[in-house]
Amino acid sequence: MRQRKVKNLEEKYAKYEEFLVYHPEACKGNWQERVRKAGCTGLYLVVGCGKGKFISEMAERHPENFYIAVEGNRSVLLRAMEKIREKGLTNVVFVPDFIVDLTDWFRDEEVDGIYLNFSDPLPKNYSAKKRLTHRSKLVQYERILKDDGIVTFKTDNTGLFEFTIQEILANDMKIHELTRDLHHCEYNEDNIMTEYEAKFSTLGENIKRVKFGRREGRKKMADTSFAAYNGRTVPKEDKIFGISGRAKAAIAAKGKENVINATIGALLDDEGKLIVLSSVDEAVKSLTPAEYAEYAPIAGTPAFKEAIVKAALGDYQPKGYVGVVASPGGTGSLRNAIANYSCPGDKFLTHDWHWTTYKNIAMEMGRDEETFDMFDAKGNFNLEDFEYKVNKLLRIQDRLVIIINTPANNPTGYSLSDEDWDGVIRVLNSTDPAKKVALVADVAYIDFAGDEKEVRSFLPKLEELNSNILPILAYSASKTFTFYGCRCAATICLAKTEEVRDEFVRVLSFSARASWSNCPRGPQEVIAKIYNNPELLARVDEERAGFRNMLLSRGHAFEEEAAKVGLKMVPFRGGFFCSVPCEDPDAVSKKLEEVDVFVVPFTKGVRVSIASISEAKCRKLPKLILEALEA
Ligand code: PLP
Repeated sequence: MRQRKVKNLEEKYAKYEEFLVYHPEACKGNWQERVRKAGCTGLYLVVGCGKGKFISEMAERHPENFYIAVEGNRSVLLRAMEKIREKGLTNVVFVPDFIVDLTDWFRDEEVDGIYLNFSDPLPKNYSAKKRLTHRSKLVQYERILKDDGIVTFKTDNTGLFEFTIQEILANDMKIHELTRDLHHCEYNEDNIMTEYEAKFSTLGENIKRVKFGRREGRKKMADTSFAAYNGRTVPKEDKIFGISGRAKAAIAAKGKENVINATIGALLDDEGKLIVLSSVDEAVKSLTPAEYAEYAPIAGTPAFKEAIVKAALGDYQPKGYVGVVASPGGTGSLRNAIANYSCPGDKFLTHDWHWTTYKNIAMEMGRDEETFDMFDAKGNFNLEDFEYKVNKLLRIQDRLVIIINTPANNPTGYSLSDEDWDGVIRVLNSTDPAKKVALVADVAYIDFAGDEKEVRSFLPKLEELNSNILPILAYSASKTFTFYGCRCAATICLAKTEEVRDEFVRVLSFSARASWSNCPRGPQEVIAKIYNNPELLARVDEERAGFRNMLLSRGHAFEEEAAKVGLKMVPFRGGFFCSVPCEDPDAVSKKLEEVDVFVVPFTKGVRVSIASISEAKCRKLPKLILEALEA
């Protein structure tokens, strides 16, 4: 909307001299003087203040802050100054200009916060550099902002908003808060509408808002890095590799009988040797060169897809439409689910006890993580917190990926019961049908969780989900077929309609092509061979059942001893791991290293891999952990 020119502008401006700063560059480094004189403490910049509805309400609401409002349209700015005078506010000044380089106006770390309201979207590609959220501008904001300073950016323009998110991530800044529907979420509480927002928000697009700022330690990384950080925090050393490296060194020095290395996420026998199902080994050795050397189709060979669905679903025959796309390990499935069912800047939801890689996958793609407490005070699945977090996220996001790792959760060994699942389904069915939810069951440990039929009893329940919820299984062959290094898995959707299923296959195949292309063909052929040969399948199942029982015995041995010595642990139902909650997992893990026990610290406790230690060592461990806790 074009603003009519105000007549005799210079004359009118003369009446507002006390508000006007014509040469902000002259104030560089000295703004604090003005802030102090106005009796304020904080210094805020509002870029594009328009007719002043936002700035006048903001300055009134926060007399402790001093605001510099910038507006290049002088006729419009006049209205803003009138409003400030009418309200008798003394904590605002105006710069009648457009911003070019804010570092000319402010010295480093001089500003507490910046508001960018409904800036010009400049939709043409060649204008991208002029947008106020182009990375070249973000670098300026980052320089002039204090360490904990926040930029608040608000727009109704979807293209500009998505561009902004990418720029924030590319510039390695931290997103503190994000919503694509500000007026209908809890973040609206602190919102002050601009004139534009009040007038147009009811007519068109939702208002989007993101608050972002510096990432901690960002400067140091930027000074030393050649690589782009892209919104990720990349540790110097992988914690688990570090611990298991020390465990190996201890074994070499002191002998394996004197060391407990409970860090490894693979099934080992009592001697510490990798277990490989011999029936699977035979099938691998029977592969012809063409079977392992040829490219596989992107979504997997037809025989593999048929076999892996049988492996994942067991006897369950779904009523809906099943889509399958191969992935290199369960990791690839999780990556593709997050990539295709959430947007950059979104948070995915998972339980607080979870495999840390989830967060890394999300960070890699510019997403973030939200967790719910997995257990309540009584140690039961915490449906209440799950419901709270689902609703909280769906108030600020249009879509949500939820990852539930069950049965035999890593790191706890917990499996959701049928009642837990009923609760999850009830919560999800009460969500706004306009929102899209991908419910990903990470079933990486399903075949080592307990009775094969019982652990799949939740599958038919997924059919009760409303059509705005898409159930997805991340099914990995890594554990089931002792195939860790073969990188073989599948993402399986149980869709209500053919369209959703076909789209699932299409988008996941696209992502696969764009990241790892096709998956190894050899393991796919092996799994197809197993499922086409009932005698071989029976042998695989039988062999696996033996090792599953071995694992369960190890887990129960740990549980029994823990109960005897009074060590509190998270409820164990099956799988490769069990966990002990504690206040300072890093310290406990370090203390245990002193007695040659190696476990993995998670956020809420330490994880013990019962898959990698003998039953005798499982019995020894609880007392040692208790001693470390007490120390
Ligand atoms: N999900 C969980 C909880 C895991 O612990 C793992 C591996 O350790 C995976 C998924 C995926 O494993 P992979 O990519 O080896 O199949």
